Amino acid sequence: MALPVAEWQGRTARLWAALQPALRERLAAASLQDAVRLGCDVLRSEEEAALVQLCHQAPTDKKPEAASWYREQGNREFKRGRYQAALRLYSKVCLEDIARAESHGYPDRLLPKVLLRKAECLLCLGRLQDAQDILRGLESKIALDGVMTTHLTRLQKLSQLKVKLGEKERCPEPAQGEHGGTQGEPEIWEENNRISGASSSLSLSFDAERGRHLVASQDIVAGQSLVKEEAFVSVLCPGESLPLQDGDTAWDTRATNADLYCHRCLRQLLASVPCQGCSYAKYCSQDCADRAWQQYHRAECSLGALLLTLGVFCHVALRTVLLAGFAEVSRLVEGSHHGDKNFQNPEGSCKPLSEAADAGAGSRGVPGCDSCGRYQSSYQALFHLLPHTEQHSPEHKFLCTLSVVALCKQLQAAGLEAAVLSQKSPQQWSKPKTCEKTSDELSPELKTVAEAMLRHVLQLQCNAQAITVMQELGPGDGAVVDKKPVRLATAFFPVLSLLNHSCCPNISVSFSGTAATVRAAQPISSGQEVLHCYGPHWCRMRVAERQQFLSQYFFKCHCPACLQELEPGVKSVVSIRNSFCCPKCQAQMQGEEDTLCCSNEACATSASRDHLSGRLQDLQQQIKKALDLLRVGKADQAIKMLLKCQMDAGTFLSPEHLLMGEMEDHLAQVYATLGKWQEAARHLRKSIEIVEMHHGPSSVETGHELFKLAQILFNGFAVSEALSTIQRAEGILSVHFGPQSAQIQELQEMKACLSELPRNILQRT
Ligand SMILES: [Zn+2]
Ligand SMILES: [Zn+2]
Ligand SMILES: [Zn+2]
Ligand SMILES: [Zn+2]
Repeated sequence: MALPVAEWQGRTARLWAALQPALRERLAAASLQDAVRLGCDVLRSEEEAALVQLCHQAPTDKKPEAASWYREQGNREFKRGRYQAALRLYSKVCLEDIARAESHGYPDRLLPKVLLRKAECLLCLGRLQDAQDILRGLESKIALDGVMTTHLTRLQKLSQLKVKLGEKERCPEPAQGEHGGTQGEPEIWEENNRISGASSSLSLSFDAERGRHLVASQDIVAGQSLVKEEAFVSVLCPGESLPLQDGDTAWDTRATNADLYCHRCLRQLLASVPCQGCSYAKYCSQDCADRAWQQYHRAECSLGALLLTLGVFCHVALRTVLLAGFAEVSRLVEGSHHGDKNFQNPEGSCKPLSEAADAGAGSRGVPGCDSCGRYQSSYQALFHLLPHTEQHSPEHKFLCTLSVVALCKQLQAAGLEAAVLSQKSPQQWSKPKTCEKTSDELSPELKTVAEAMLRHVLQLQCNAQAITVMQELGPGDGAVVDKKPVRLATAFFPVLSLLNHSCCPNISVSFSGTAATVRAAQPISSGQEVLHCYGPHWCRMRVAERQQFLSQYFFKCHCPACLQELEPGVKSVVSIRNSFCCPKCQAQMQGEEDTLCCSNEACATSASRDHLSGRLQDLQQQIKKALDLLRVGKADQAIKMLLKCQMDAGTFLSPEHLLMGEMEDHLAQVYATLGKWQEAARHLRKSIEIVEMHHGPSSVETGHELFKLAQILFNGFAVSEALSTIQRAEGILSVHFGPQSAQIQELQEMKACLSELPRNILQRT
C-alpha cells in the first residue's frame, strides 16, 4: 500500500535486471538529480502503457450507479440484521438515505440509535432546528420506554448531543474543530521558542550517533503534553481492498476509510460532500472540498487511479510538493545542488553545530533550522529529513525513480503542469501547455518537481508517520463499544520526526484529525532523551523480530530492552509469556529446537513445535468462526464455541498467553450484547489481568480494557465498582490521550449519569 502495486514493482525489477551493468552502476551511485535524468531516459513508452493498463484495476472515475449500489447493499445488510454495516453504507450515500431507512421501519430498539445518528448528521450540517426536533422526540420516546437499560448509553449520548447543540446555538460558526479536543484545554502549555509546536520543557540536541533528537530540559510529569503538531501533509490511506468487488470482507472498516473520513481533514464523515470529478475524494464540508481543490486536488483529481497504483508514498510526495509550492520546492532543490554535501548528508555538516550548541549558541546550522536557529514545522524542515540515499538498495531507488518520473509524465500529459507549478489563474492551468518540446521530454520545472518527489519518497521510508484513529469494532448494536486503533493516513510531521526510536518509549502519540499530540507516558527527568516507538514495542515483539523490523530504518536499536534481550541465554518477555504448556502437567514447554520438552523434569513429556503451532492456528481459526457467528447475531452459538476454544487452549497454552486474554475479552463482548452484564464483567476482569501482565498496569491497552469494563458495569448498574473503574480508566487514558479526549469525556459523562441516576431506576434492579 505504501509502495506501488506488485505488478509495477515486478516490471521495474525486470527492467532493472535487463539494464547494462554500466548503467546500473551509474544509477546506483547517482545523485537524486542524476537519478531523475537517467530515469527519464530509461522509462520507455512500453512501461508507461503497462502502467496505464494497471490503473484500470483501480477505477476512480465517477460512477452514477455506485450510490444505488450502496443503498441496495445497505438494505441487504439491514435485512441480515447487520445494522452497523447498513448504517455505514447508508451514510455513504447521503443524509437523505437515513431518512429512508427510518421510513422503512427500523426495529424499535434500534430506532433511537438511528435517530441519534441522524441528529448528529444534522448538527454537523448546521440544521439546528431539525436536530433539536429529533432530540426532543427521542427524549419523549425514551421516557415512555419501559426497558431503560438498553438505552442508558443512548441517554448519555443524547445529553452529549444536547450539550453540543447548546454550544452551536451560542456560537453559530460551522463545524470547525468539533471532533478535535483542543478547545478549552486546561493544561499548562508553554511553547518552545526554538522548536515550533514543542513544549518549552524540551530542547533540540545533536550528536553523531543519534542525529537530531529531543531531550527533556527539565523534569516532565506523566501526561504532560510535549509536542502539538499539525501534519505538514497527510494522505488518507485507501484501505487494502476496494469495496466494489467483494461481499463480506469488503465491509471491513479499513476497506472503506475513503468513505468514512474526510479526504482533507480526516474528520469522520456523517454526511459527505463528494468531489464532482472523482469517486474517491469525499469531504466533511464544502469548505474542505474547496480548500483541497485549491491546494492540491485540482492536480490529483484525474490521477486517482494512478496514485492508487503507485502507492501512498508517491501520493504523499506529490501532495507535499503541491502544498509547498513550486517556488519553495525549486529554491530548496537548487540549494541542495549548490550547497552540495550538506544536503546529501546533513550530519556531515553538523560538526560545528554541536560545538555551537554546547557554547549555548542554539541550534543555528542544524539541518532544517532557519537562519535564526529556529526549527519550524515547515517544508524546509521536511526537505532536510534524511533521505538515506546511500542506504536504500539500488533496485528500490530505481523503482521509486521510475514511479516518480512516470507520475510527472502523466501530470504533463494531462495538462496539469501549470497546476503543479502553482500558477494561480484557472485559465493558465486548465489549458494544456502546448510547447515545442516532444511529449516524451519532461520540462525542466517538472524535473525539479520529480527530484523533490524522489527525495520525499525515500524520506518516507524512515519518516512516514501513521495517523491512527480509534474505530468502533463489532456489530455495533450492543451497548458496549469496542474500539481499536486503525491506520487512517500517512503523513509527514517534521517535529515529530525529531524523536528517535526505543522499543520501550517514554511517550504516547495521539491524533485528532491531522494534528498529533505527544504526551509523556511516564515521568521523564531532565537530561533524558524523549523516545518514540516506531512500531516494534518490546511487549509485543521478540527482539529478533524487532531488529528485523527496524532494519528498514537503517539502524540497530540499542534500547535497554534490546540490550538485555540480546544477551546470551535471555529470552524475550513476549516468548516467555506466550509459551506453550505441557499437555500432561501444564508446566511450561522449553527448547529452541523443533522438539519442545516439558520443564518439569519428572514429567519428561515432549512435543513437536510444528504440532503445537498447528494447534494454535486451528484455535485462531475457531475463534474467528465464533466471532463470525456473533456478527450474524448467533450469540448463543458463539458462546458455546468460545468456551470450547478456551477448554482446548487450556491444554496447550500457558495461562498467561495473550490469546487466553483475547478469548476472555470476546466472551465479555458476547455476554454484553445479550445484556448479561455480570458474566461480561467476570470475563473482562480476567482479560484485564492478562493484558496488564503483558502491557503493564498503566498502558494504553489496559486503559482501553478498563474503559470497556466501565461501560459494562455502568450498564449493569454496578454503581460503586463502575465509579472506581471509571476513575482508574480516566487516570490511565488521560495520560495517553489528554483530559480533553473523547474517551475521557465519555467516562465523565458516565460518571455524571451514574450520580444523577433517578432513584426509581436503581430500585427496579
Ligand atoms: Zn474536512
Ligand atoms: Zn476529485
Ligand atoms: Zn530496542
Ligand atoms: Zn509436563
